[in-house]
Amino acid sequence: MDEPLVTRMAGFGETVFAEMTRLADETGAINLGQGFPDTDGPRSLLEGAARRIAGGVNQYPPGSGRIELRTAVAEDRRTRYGLDHDPETEVYVTVGATAGIAASVLALVEPGDEVVLFEPMYDSYSGAVALAQGVRRPVTLRPSADGAGTRFAFDPDELRAAVTPRTRMIIVNSPHNPTGTVFTAAEMGLIAELCRDNDIVALTDEVYEHLTYDGVAHLPLASFPGMAERTLSVSSAGKTFSVTGWKVGWVTGPAPLVRAVRTVNQFLTYSANGALQLAVADALRDEAEWVRAQRDALQGKRDRLAAGLAAAGFGVEPAQGSYFLMADIRPLGFADGVETARSLPRLAGVAAVPAQVFYADQEKGRHLVRFAFCKKDGVLDEAAARLRAFGGG
Ligand SMILES: *Cc1c(COP(=O)(O)O)cnc(C)c1O
Repeated sequence: MDEPLVTRMAGFGETVFAEMTRLADETGAINLGQGFPDTDGPRSLLEGAARRIAGGVNQYPPGSGRIELRTAVAEDRRTRYGLDHDPETEVYVTVGATAGIAASVLALVEPGDEVVLFEPMYDSYSGAVALAQGVRRPVTLRPSADGAGTRFAFDPDELRAAVTPRTRMIIVNSPHNPTGTVFTAAEMGLIAELCRDNDIVALTDEVYEHLTYDGVAHLPLASFPGMAERTLSVSSAGKTFSVTGWKVGWVTGPAPLVRAVRTVNQFLTYSANGALQLAVADALRDEAEWVRAQRDALQGKRDRLAAGLAAAGFGVEPAQGSYFLMADIRPLGFADGVETARSLPRLAGVAAVPAQVFYADQEKGRHLVRFAFCKKDGVLDEAAARLRAFGGG
Protein backbone atom coordinates (compact mmCIF):
# COMPACT_ATOMS: atom_id res chain seq x y z
CA MET A 1 0.00 0.00 0.00
CA ASP A 2 1.21 3.53 -0.73
CA GLU A 3 1.81 5.86 2.20
CA PRO A 4 -1.76 6.28 3.51
CA LEU A 5 -1.18 9.65 5.23
CA VAL A 6 -3.00 12.64 3.67
CA THR A 7 -0.58 14.76 1.65
CA ARG A 8 -1.11 17.87 3.76
CA MET A 9 0.52 16.01 6.69
CA ALA A 10 3.42 14.56 4.69
CA GLY A 11 6.69 15.34 6.44
CA PHE A 12 5.21 15.15 9.95
CA GLY A 13 6.89 12.00 11.23
CA GLU A 14 7.52 10.88 14.81
CA THR A 15 8.44 13.90 16.92
CA VAL A 16 12.02 14.34 18.04
CA PHE A 17 10.75 14.45 21.64
CA ALA A 18 9.72 10.80 21.43
CA GLU A 19 13.06 9.85 19.87
CA MET A 20 15.11 11.68 22.52
CA THR A 21 13.02 10.24 25.37
CA ARG A 22 13.56 6.74 23.97
CA LEU A 23 17.30 7.39 23.69
CA ALA A 24 17.40 8.68 27.28
CA ASP A 25 15.60 5.53 28.47
CA GLU A 26 17.92 3.22 26.51
CA THR A 27 21.09 4.87 27.81
CA GLY A 28 19.99 5.77 31.35
CA ALA A 29 20.58 9.43 30.54
CA ILE A 30 18.96 12.26 32.52
CA ASN A 31 16.14 13.51 30.30
CA LEU A 32 16.27 17.30 30.01
CA GLY A 33 14.66 17.01 26.58
CA GLN A 34 10.92 16.97 27.15
CA GLY A 35 9.45 19.77 29.28
CA PHE A 36 7.54 18.15 32.11
CA PRO A 37 8.16 18.62 35.86
CA ASP A 38 9.32 15.68 38.00
CA THR A 39 7.33 16.82 41.04
CA ASP A 40 3.55 16.97 41.59
CA GLY A 41 1.19 19.92 41.68
CA PRO A 42 -0.52 21.28 44.82
CA ARG A 43 -1.96 18.63 47.19
CA SER A 44 -5.41 20.26 47.22
CA LEU A 45 -5.57 19.99 43.42
CA LEU A 46 -4.71 16.29 43.34
CA GLU A 47 -7.09 15.51 46.19
CA GLY A 48 -9.81 17.70 44.70
CA ALA A 49 -9.74 15.63 41.52
CA ALA A 50 -9.69 12.29 43.37
CA ARG A 51 -12.62 13.43 45.55
CA ARG A 52 -14.70 14.41 42.50
CA ILE A 53 -14.05 11.09 40.75
CA ALA A 54 -14.89 9.09 43.88
CA GLY A 55 -17.94 11.30 44.37
CA GLY A 56 -19.41 10.48 40.96
CA VAL A 57 -18.34 13.30 38.62
CA ASN A 58 -17.71 10.84 35.80
CA GLN A 59 -20.08 11.57 32.92
CA TYR A 60 -19.93 14.10 30.08
CA PRO A 61 -19.62 17.68 31.29
CA PRO A 62 -21.16 20.46 29.15
CA GLY A 63 -19.33 20.84 25.82
CA SER A 64 -18.18 24.36 26.69
CA GLY A 65 -16.83 23.18 30.04
CA ARG A 66 -18.07 23.20 33.64
CA ILE A 67 -19.41 26.64 34.53
CA GLU A 68 -17.32 26.50 37.74
CA LEU A 69 -14.10 26.46 35.69
CA ARG A 70 -15.31 29.01 33.12
CA THR A 71 -16.22 31.36 35.98
CA ALA A 72 -12.88 30.80 37.73
CA VAL A 73 -10.97 31.51 34.49
CA ALA A 74 -12.94 34.73 33.92
CA GLU A 75 -12.33 35.86 37.53
CA ASP A 76 -8.65 35.05 37.29
CA ARG A 77 -8.18 37.07 34.09
CA ARG A 78 -10.15 39.97 35.56
CA THR A 79 -8.09 40.00 38.75
CA ARG A 80 -4.66 39.65 37.18
CA TYR A 81 -5.07 41.41 33.83
CA GLY A 82 -8.22 43.55 34.12
CA LEU A 83 -9.83 41.62 31.23
CA ASP A 84 -13.59 41.03 31.18
CA HIS A 85 -15.02 37.76 29.86
CA ASP A 86 -18.59 36.49 30.08
CA PRO A 87 -18.15 32.91 31.36
CA GLU A 88 -21.20 31.80 29.35
CA THR A 89 -20.04 32.94 25.91
CA GLU A 90 -16.42 34.08 26.11
CA VAL A 91 -14.66 31.21 27.92
CA TYR A 92 -14.41 27.72 26.43
CA VAL A 93 -12.73 24.68 28.01
CA THR A 94 -10.55 22.39 25.85
CA VAL A 95 -8.46 19.21 26.18
CA GLY A 96 -5.28 21.12 27.02
CA ALA A 97 -3.95 24.16 25.24
CA THR A 98 -3.08 21.90 22.30
CA ALA A 99 -6.72 21.25 21.41
CA GLY A 100 -7.54 24.94 21.91
CA ILE A 101 -4.83 25.93 19.45
CA ALA A 102 -5.78 23.29 16.87
CA ALA A 103 -9.50 24.10 17.06
CA SER A 104 -8.82 27.85 16.78
CA VAL A 105 -6.68 27.43 13.66
CA LEU A 106 -9.12 24.97 12.07
CA ALA A 107 -12.04 27.29 12.85
CA LEU A 108 -10.54 30.47 11.38
CA VAL A 109 -7.93 29.67 8.73
CA GLU A 110 -9.16 28.90 5.19
CA PRO A 111 -6.99 26.89 2.78
CA GLY A 112 -4.34 29.26 1.41
CA ASP A 113 -4.69 31.79 4.24
CA GLU A 114 -1.40 32.91 5.73
CA VAL A 115 -0.49 32.54 9.40
CA VAL A 116 2.36 34.63 10.82
CA LEU A 117 4.27 32.96 13.65
CA PHE A 118 7.59 33.33 15.40
CA GLU A 119 10.32 30.72 14.97
CA PRO A 120 11.70 28.83 16.76
CA MET A 121 8.12 27.68 17.38
CA TYR A 122 6.24 25.11 19.43
CA ASP A 123 5.67 22.15 17.13
CA SER A 124 1.87 21.95 17.33
CA TYR A 125 1.40 25.26 15.43
CA SER A 126 2.82 23.83 12.22
CA GLY A 127 0.67 20.74 12.49
CA ALA A 128 -2.51 22.78 13.01
CA VAL A 129 -1.73 25.15 10.13
CA ALA A 130 -1.01 22.18 7.84
CA LEU A 131 -4.29 20.50 8.83
CA ALA A 132 -6.10 23.72 7.90
CA GLN A 133 -4.09 23.89 4.65
CA GLY A 134 -2.89 27.32 5.66
CA VAL A 135 0.54 28.76 4.83
CA ARG A 136 3.13 29.53 7.53
CA ARG A 137 4.93 32.89 7.44
CA PRO A 138 7.69 32.53 10.05
CA VAL A 139 9.45 35.52 11.61
CA THR A 140 12.73 34.58 13.26
CA LEU A 141 13.63 35.39 16.87
CA ARG A 142 17.38 35.94 17.19
CA PRO A 143 19.73 36.82 20.01
CA SER A 144 20.65 40.41 19.09
CA ALA A 145 23.67 40.96 16.94
CA ASP A 146 26.04 41.99 19.73
CA GLY A 147 25.80 38.36 20.81
CA ALA A 148 26.63 38.98 24.46
CA GLY A 149 23.87 37.11 26.24
CA THR A 150 20.90 39.12 25.05
CA ARG A 151 17.38 37.76 24.80
CA PHE A 152 15.91 36.37 21.58
CA ALA A 153 13.83 39.02 19.80
CA PHE A 154 12.35 39.76 16.35
CA ASP A 155 13.28 42.48 13.90
CA PRO A 156 10.22 44.81 13.63
CA ASP A 157 10.77 45.25 9.89
CA GLU A 158 10.79 41.48 9.34
CA LEU A 159 7.48 41.24 11.18
CA ARG A 160 5.97 44.07 9.09
CA ALA A 161 7.20 42.39 5.90
CA ALA A 162 5.64 39.05 6.88
CA VAL A 163 2.14 40.57 6.93
CA THR A 164 0.39 40.46 3.52
CA PRO A 165 -3.20 40.86 2.30
CA ARG A 166 -3.54 37.06 2.75
CA THR A 167 -2.63 37.14 6.45
CA ARG A 168 -5.52 35.77 8.49
CA MET A 169 -3.88 35.04 11.83
CA ILE A 170 -0.80 35.68 13.93
CA ILE A 171 0.20 33.16 16.60
CA VAL A 172 1.96 34.73 19.60
CA ASN A 173 3.58 32.55 22.27
CA SER A 174 4.84 34.56 25.25
CA PRO A 175 6.49 33.51 27.55
CA HIS A 176 8.09 31.67 24.65
CA ASN A 177 9.00 28.02 24.24
CA PRO A 178 11.86 27.28 23.44
CA THR A 179 13.75 30.60 23.88
CA GLY A 180 12.32 31.79 27.23
CA THR A 181 11.69 35.24 25.74
CA VAL A 182 8.86 37.32 27.23
CA PHE A 183 7.65 39.89 24.71
CA THR A 184 7.93 43.51 25.87
CA ALA A 185 5.17 46.14 25.77
CA ALA A 186 6.80 47.62 22.65
CA GLU A 187 6.87 44.24 20.89
CA MET A 188 3.26 43.46 21.85
CA GLY A 189 2.29 47.00 20.82
CA LEU A 190 3.66 46.49 17.30
CA ILE A 191 1.92 43.12 16.97
CA ALA A 192 -1.35 44.75 18.11
CA GLU A 193 -0.92 47.62 15.63
CA LEU A 194 -0.38 45.22 12.73
CA CYS A 195 -3.43 43.18 13.75
CA ARG A 196 -5.65 46.26 13.93
CA ASP A 197 -4.37 47.83 10.70
CA ASN A 198 -4.67 44.62 8.68
CA ASP A 199 -7.74 43.05 10.29
CA ILE A 200 -5.79 40.04 11.57
CA VAL A 201 -6.95 37.65 14.32
CA ALA A 202 -4.40 36.98 17.07
CA LEU A 203 -4.09 33.56 18.69
CA THR A 204 -2.03 33.68 21.88
CA ASP A 205 -0.43 30.71 23.61
CA GLU A 206 -0.04 31.77 27.25
CA VAL A 207 0.61 28.41 28.92
CA TYR A 208 3.67 29.89 30.72
CA GLU A 209 1.79 33.05 31.82
CA HIS A 210 2.75 32.49 35.48
CA LEU A 211 6.33 31.42 34.80
CA THR A 212 8.24 34.69 34.33
CA TYR A 213 11.42 35.50 36.25
CA ASP A 214 13.41 38.45 37.64
CA GLY A 215 10.23 40.52 38.00
CA VAL A 216 9.48 40.48 34.25
CA ALA A 217 5.70 40.69 33.72
CA HIS A 218 3.63 38.63 31.27
CA LEU A 219 1.56 40.99 29.11
CA PRO A 220 -1.55 39.46 27.53
CA LEU A 221 -2.01 40.70 23.96
CA ALA A 222 -5.79 40.92 24.56
CA SER A 223 -5.17 43.80 26.99
CA PHE A 224 -3.74 46.07 24.26
CA PRO A 225 -6.02 48.69 22.65
CA GLY A 226 -8.41 47.22 20.11
CA MET A 227 -7.22 43.65 20.74
CA ALA A 228 -9.91 42.21 23.04
CA GLU A 229 -12.27 41.96 20.07
CA ARG A 230 -9.78 40.15 17.80
CA THR A 231 -7.78 37.89 20.13
CA LEU A 232 -8.25 34.26 21.14
CA SER A 233 -6.13 33.61 24.24
CA VAL A 234 -5.20 30.04 25.12
CA SER A 235 -3.85 28.77 28.42
CA SER A 236 -4.00 25.60 30.50
CA ALA A 237 -3.46 24.03 33.91
CA GLY A 238 -0.53 21.85 32.83
CA LYS A 239 2.41 24.21 33.31
CA THR A 240 0.80 26.47 35.95
CA PHE A 241 0.06 23.61 38.36
CA SER A 242 2.67 21.00 37.27
CA VAL A 243 0.03 18.60 35.93
CA THR A 244 1.04 18.33 32.27
CA GLY A 245 -0.75 14.98 31.95
CA TRP A 246 -4.14 16.42 32.87
CA LYS A 247 -4.78 18.29 29.62
CA VAL A 248 -7.25 20.87 30.94
CA GLY A 249 -7.05 24.06 28.89
CA TRP A 250 -9.19 27.05 28.00
CA VAL A 251 -9.75 29.58 25.24
CA THR A 252 -10.98 33.10 26.02
CA GLY A 253 -12.04 35.75 23.52
CA PRO A 254 -15.00 37.61 22.01
CA ALA A 255 -18.18 35.53 21.65
CA PRO A 256 -18.11 35.20 17.83
CA LEU A 257 -14.53 33.85 17.81
CA VAL A 258 -15.20 31.53 20.76
CA ARG A 259 -18.35 30.29 19.01
CA ALA A 260 -16.26 29.44 15.93
CA VAL A 261 -13.82 27.45 18.08
CA ARG A 262 -16.69 25.59 19.73
CA THR A 263 -18.23 24.72 16.37
CA VAL A 264 -15.03 22.94 15.34
CA ASN A 265 -14.03 21.48 18.69
CA GLN A 266 -17.38 19.79 19.29
CA PHE A 267 -16.36 17.38 16.51
CA LEU A 268 -12.76 16.93 17.76
CA THR A 269 -13.03 16.19 21.48
CA TYR A 270 -16.52 17.52 22.35
CA SER A 271 -15.64 17.98 26.04
CA ALA A 272 -12.78 17.70 28.55
CA ASN A 273 -12.63 15.73 31.83
CA GLY A 274 -15.20 17.22 34.24
CA ALA A 275 -13.68 16.09 37.55
CA LEU A 276 -10.33 17.65 36.64
CA GLN A 277 -12.10 20.86 35.56
CA LEU A 278 -13.67 21.25 39.02
CA ALA A 279 -10.34 20.66 40.75
CA VAL A 280 -8.60 23.21 38.49
CA ALA A 281 -11.37 25.76 39.16
CA ASP A 282 -10.65 25.53 42.91
CA ALA A 283 -6.89 25.75 42.37
CA LEU A 284 -7.22 28.91 40.25
CA ARG A 285 -8.93 30.55 43.26
CA ASP A 286 -7.01 29.01 46.16
CA GLU A 287 -3.49 28.12 45.07
CA ALA A 288 -2.02 31.45 43.92
CA GLU A 289 0.56 31.17 46.71
CA TRP A 290 1.65 27.72 45.50
CA VAL A 291 1.98 29.07 41.95
CA ARG A 292 4.17 31.97 43.15
CA ALA A 293 6.40 29.64 45.15
CA GLN A 294 6.73 27.34 42.15
CA ARG A 295 7.69 30.30 39.97
CA ASP A 296 10.40 31.32 42.46
CA ALA A 297 11.69 27.75 42.63
CA LEU A 298 11.85 27.57 38.83
CA GLN A 299 13.82 30.83 38.69
CA GLY A 300 16.41 29.20 40.95
CA LYS A 301 16.42 26.08 38.77
CA ARG A 302 16.98 28.20 35.67
CA ASP A 303 20.03 29.78 37.33
CA ARG A 304 21.31 26.41 38.51
CA LEU A 305 21.13 24.82 35.07
CA ALA A 306 22.47 27.96 33.33
CA ALA A 307 25.54 27.93 35.58
CA GLY A 308 26.04 24.21 34.99
CA LEU A 309 25.77 24.55 31.21
CA ALA A 310 28.17 27.51 31.18
CA ALA A 311 30.68 25.58 33.33
CA ALA A 312 30.46 22.70 30.84
CA GLY A 313 31.35 25.10 28.03
CA PHE A 314 28.00 25.78 26.36
CA GLY A 315 27.04 29.30 25.34
CA VAL A 316 23.88 29.94 27.37
CA GLU A 317 21.18 32.35 26.21
CA PRO A 318 19.24 34.10 28.99
CA ALA A 319 15.56 33.18 29.56
CA GLN A 320 12.97 35.43 31.24
CA GLY A 321 10.27 32.76 31.31
CA SER A 322 9.12 29.19 30.53
CA TYR A 323 10.83 25.90 31.44
CA PHE A 324 13.72 26.14 28.96
CA LEU A 325 17.23 27.32 28.19
CA MET A 326 18.74 27.44 24.72
CA ALA A 327 22.41 26.48 24.59
CA ASP A 328 24.95 27.15 21.84
CA ILE A 329 26.96 23.98 21.11
CA ARG A 330 29.69 25.63 19.03
CA PRO A 331 32.03 26.51 21.94
CA LEU A 332 32.20 22.74 22.62
CA GLY A 333 33.33 22.06 19.07
CA PHE A 334 29.97 20.81 17.76
CA ALA A 335 28.21 22.19 14.69
CA ASP A 336 24.93 20.30 14.32
CA GLY A 337 22.27 20.15 17.04
CA VAL A 338 20.62 16.98 15.75
CA GLU A 339 23.92 15.07 15.76
CA THR A 340 24.80 16.51 19.16
CA ALA A 341 21.43 15.64 20.70
CA ARG A 342 21.67 12.10 19.28
CA SER A 343 25.13 11.56 20.81
CA LEU A 344 24.83 13.44 24.14
CA PRO A 345 22.86 10.70 25.97
CA ARG A 346 25.57 8.13 25.26
CA LEU A 347 28.58 10.47 25.55
CA ALA A 348 27.49 12.63 28.49
CA GLY A 349 24.50 10.86 30.07
CA VAL A 350 22.15 13.79 29.47
CA ALA A 351 19.40 14.18 26.84
CA ALA A 352 18.41 17.49 25.21
CA VAL A 353 16.34 18.47 22.18
CA PRO A 354 17.90 19.89 19.00
CA ALA A 355 16.52 23.37 18.33
CA GLN A 356 16.33 22.69 14.56
CA VAL A 357 12.93 21.04 15.03
CA PHE A 358 11.48 24.39 16.12
CA TYR A 359 12.46 26.20 12.90
CA ALA A 360 10.85 26.27 9.47
CA ASP A 361 14.36 26.93 8.14
CA GLN A 362 16.31 24.38 10.21
CA GLU A 363 19.67 25.93 9.34
CA LYS A 364 18.85 28.87 11.63
CA GLY A 365 18.75 26.64 14.71
CA ARG A 366 21.58 24.28 13.77
CA HIS A 367 23.93 25.44 16.55
CA LEU A 368 21.38 25.31 19.38
CA VAL A 369 19.95 22.64 21.68
CA ARG A 370 17.19 23.09 24.26
CA PHE A 371 17.45 21.98 27.89
CA ALA A 372 14.48 21.85 30.31
CA PHE A 373 15.11 23.01 33.90
CA CYS A 374 11.73 21.98 35.43
CA LYS A 375 13.44 19.15 37.36
CA LYS A 376 14.49 18.49 40.97
CA ASP A 377 17.62 20.40 42.04
CA GLY A 378 19.51 17.13 42.58
CA VAL A 379 18.68 16.02 39.03
CA LEU A 380 19.89 19.35 37.59
CA ASP A 381 23.10 19.15 39.66
CA GLU A 382 23.79 15.61 38.49
CA ALA A 383 23.13 16.63 34.86
CA ALA A 384 25.46 19.63 35.28
CA ALA A 385 28.20 17.43 36.78
CA ARG A 386 27.90 14.93 33.92
CA LEU A 387 28.02 17.68 31.31
CA ARG A 388 31.04 19.31 32.99
CA ALA A 389 32.89 15.98 33.08
CA PHE A 390 32.06 15.58 29.40
CA GLY A 391 32.84 19.18 28.33
CA GLY A 392 36.05 19.40 30.30
CA GLY A 393 37.31 15.95 29.38
C1 LIG B 1 3.33 22.49 26.88
C2 LIG B 1 2.90 23.49 25.86
C3 LIG B 1 1.60 23.44 25.31
C4 LIG B 1 0.66 22.30 25.57
O1 LIG B 1 -0.22 22.54 26.60
P1 LIG B 1 -1.30 21.40 27.00
O2 LIG B 1 -2.19 22.10 27.93
O3 LIG B 1 -0.53 20.27 27.62
O4 LIG B 1 -1.96 20.95 25.74
C5 LIG B 1 1.23 24.44 24.43
N1 LIG B 1 2.09 25.43 24.09
C6 LIG B 1 3.33 25.48 24.57
C7 LIG B 1 4.23 26.60 24.15
C8 LIG B 1 3.80 24.51 25.46
O5 LIG B 1 5.06 24.55 25.90
